[in-house]
Amino acid sequence: MAGRRPQVVVIGSGFGGLFATKALNRADVDITLIAKTTHHLFQPLLYQVATGILSEGEIAPSTREILGRQRNARVLLGEVNAIDLANRTVTSMVLDQVRVTPYDALIVAAGAGQSYFGNDHFARFAPGMKSIDDALELRGRIFGSFELAELAEDEEQRARLMTFVVVGAGATGVEMAGQIAELAHRTLRHEFRRIDPRQARVILLDAAASVLGSFGDRLGARAKTRLGEIGVEVQLGAKVVRVDGTGIEVEDAQGQRRRIESVCKVWAAGVSASPLGALLAEQSGAGLDRAGRIEVQPDLTLPGHPEVFVVGDMIALRGLPGVAQVAIQGGRFAAGQIKARLAGKPGGQPFQYKDKGSMATISRFSAVASIGRFRFAGFTAWLMWLGLHLVYMVGFKNRLTTLLHWLVSFIGRGRAERTVTEQQIFARQAFQQLGGDFAPTLSPRPGPEPEPEPAPEKRAGQEPPD
Ligand SMILES: Cc1cc2nc3c(=O)[nH]c(=O)nc-3n(C[C@H](O)[C@H](O)[C@H](O)COP(=O)(O)OP(=O)(O)OC[C@H]3O[C@@H](n4cnc5c(N)ncnc54)[C@H](O)[C@@H]3O)c2cc1C
Repeated sequence: MAGRRPQVVVIGSGFGGLFATKALNRADVDITLIAKTTHHLFQPLLYQVATGILSEGEIAPSTREILGRQRNARVLLGEVNAIDLANRTVTSMVLDQVRVTPYDALIVAAGAGQSYFGNDHFARFAPGMKSIDDALELRGRIFGSFELAELAEDEEQRARLMTFVVVGAGATGVEMAGQIAELAHRTLRHEFRRIDPRQARVILLDAAASVLGSFGDRLGARAKTRLGEIGVEVQLGAKVVRVDGTGIEVEDAQGQRRRIESVCKVWAAGVSASPLGALLAEQSGAGLDRAGRIEVQPDLTLPGHPEVFVVGDMIALRGLPGVAQVAIQGGRFAAGQIKARLAGKPGGQPFQYKDKGSMATISRFSAVASIGRFRFAGFTAWLMWLGLHLVYMVGFKNRLTTLLHWLVSFIGRGRAERTVTEQQIFARQAFQQLGGDFAPTLSPRPGPEPEPEPAPEKRAGQEPPD
């Protein structure tokens, strides 16, 4: 259109969306980034927010601040619930406001959510770790469990409160279990009078037969040994079949079921792509895989829609993993294609992913890393992990305070970010699920007197009992 710069809409302020927007910095376009949160989230460190090492601000800087100086970009808060490929519009909502934003080029980077493999009701008792809300909820549950254990009069209740179960022995589960164990054994050891936090059980469960399956047998075995050394019980071949407020039931390969009594459970298994993928698939005819990822063209576009790019966790392409680098490189690639077309070049080249390796920490000073043909474990891998995470965090100020908090936690034994608000300590619903046994401990605040129950025969709409 004459006199109007091409309009690029980016959905999502995660790795894909943010890096795509930044890569379009000097391009002659107007960019509108729409995301349902006001921050960019560094998901790989969510477990450190949950276990009191980092503050939420350190891993979730404001998107508006990051892009404040990028004159061709504007940031809009809103949850996208419709994309019209034929009319080239994106519809987003915030509270009751609906906004329709037209585009000439669209980059969809809405990521993935937690998957409970068809058992969404597990979420209430075993939150996943996908957002700041999740991490703070878990912080409330973890620290709250120790608090309630200190108050518990009954031995069984105390044991249940001091048993932590992490489901999923991938990188997130290993990191989470390792940090809960360090919290119990190092940070909290001198702080309670009735309980000994070192007696806490930390159980890492997985239906698969190995820990860190994607890292290969050797690193998986190293990680398992190290987890044992720091007090994590690894239980493999254990498929979760039931989760409730006070425990979790698992089934082994022979179909034998057993129950683990535990109040605080963490779900770190399985992801499912943003529902926007299904929406795009329906209109473009692209396929969807079992995790809801959309089968994009080799150049990350949709079939018949060279103006629409999908990047990051939402895509199914040549088995690419759901990791930050796929999203970052995909976002930059999409931006490059848009710039090439503006310059009159044909575009359409296939996206080439450069695998920079993967790593996971197990405890302080111990990690595993797989980079190309090389495998590292222990302190060297941990130093690599440290350096890499600092490089990829957004913002100098966040890097600085993160480094400070890491010194507090790794050299010392403290945790700088243990604050849990009253709402969090009662963790929205977590402890309400405990029922009668725990009710007196959980409702300490005086509230209004409850209305007296009406006598049965006076209840509206009910027949009096015989
Ligand atoms: C706990 C955890 C640990 C991880 N650890 C590692 C690791 O160590 N190394 C690694 O490489 N990868 C790791 N990952 C994976 C990595 O974080 C993801 O691969 C990466 O974030 C994907 O980027 P993305 O841009 O596709 O999606 P995301 O970063 O998830 O961003 C999605 C964005 O879209 C927004 N959004 C979603 N739906 C809508 C909507 N309908 N409307 C508007 N906005 C929407 C979200 O608010 C968000 O801003 C980890 C992930 C998790 C959850």
